[in-house]
Amino acid sequence: MTSAKPISLVTGGGGDIGRAIALRLAHMSGGVAIVDLDEAAANATARAVEKSGVAVMAIRADVSCSEDCARYVTLVEEQLGPIGVFANNAGIEGVVAPLHEYPDNVFDQLYAVNVRGAFLGLKHVLGRMRARGTGSIINTASTSAIRGRAGLAGYVASKHAVLGLTRTAAVEVAGTGIRVNAVLPGPIESRMIRELDHQAHRTSTSAGRAGSAGYGQPQNIADVVAFLASAEASHVNGAAWVVDGGMTVP
Ligand code: NAD
Repeated sequence: MTSAKPISLVTGGGGDIGRAIALRLAHMSGGVAIVDLDEAAANATARAVEKSGVAVMAIRADVSCSEDCARYVTLVEEQLGPIGVFANNAGIEGVVAPLHEYPDNVFDQLYAVNVRGAFLGLKHVLGRMRARGTGSIINTASTSAIRGRAGLAGYVASKHAVLGLTRTAAVEVAGTGIRVNAVLPGPIESRMIRELDHQAHRTSTSAGRAGSAGYGQPQNIADVVAFLASAEASHVNGAAWVVDGGMTVP
């Protein structure tokens, strides 16, 4: 990346982790764009980011829709400037159910948002970054990208796929000035984990289990995303950066 402060884009920026990422990236960015399906949540993050004095915009978009992705990329580049950092973070958790009872429609929905959404974000942003030969992309996967978890067939499969997309993109851009990495959060204090905990408790599975390190905070993820976005990580490409307090140590 050049020495000028980059424009940062965060999808799922209205959620707990996305908001922490947007606030953290504001310190190192010339502008921050927040994309979310939930317009009110995106606006709330934008108002919080605004306090840091950086240019900000909030866009309502569905990351699983190709037209929406093309639109948000164009809007951000027209209004803020070239996207230098992309936190490809939007995601959903689905339901907790054993595989033999896992609902087909929930599985498809997880693939639409978590996999197709991550793919479309990569596709549209990478097109712009490749033309400029600079940029850093951080996909939010999960420790569910490297472990099986009872009751979470759709989520686990979708996050394994996000890691596959990350690795493919990283190999494709190696040596071009662009880097693509994944951050793999363990359970983080958030709406999503509270919902999974609630469902796991009801279905007596271990879906939301935190392990001995307990839950992390959204800020823990934001700090690693900021590092991966920064020039200090200039030789880090294709990494699966686990942030779980040691929960998945082999
Ligand atoms: P969250 O539910 O608080 O935030 C997710 C955000 O994504 C929400 O604001 C939601 O409106 C948005 N979103 C959902 N579908 C969308 C769509 N189709 N288009 C645009 N936006 C959409 O959850 P979070 O904990 O902040 O999760 C952020 C990311 O971190 C997700 O990818 C999640 O899978 C991942 N993750 C979370 C945890 C955790 O413990 N919370 C652990 C590992 C990975």
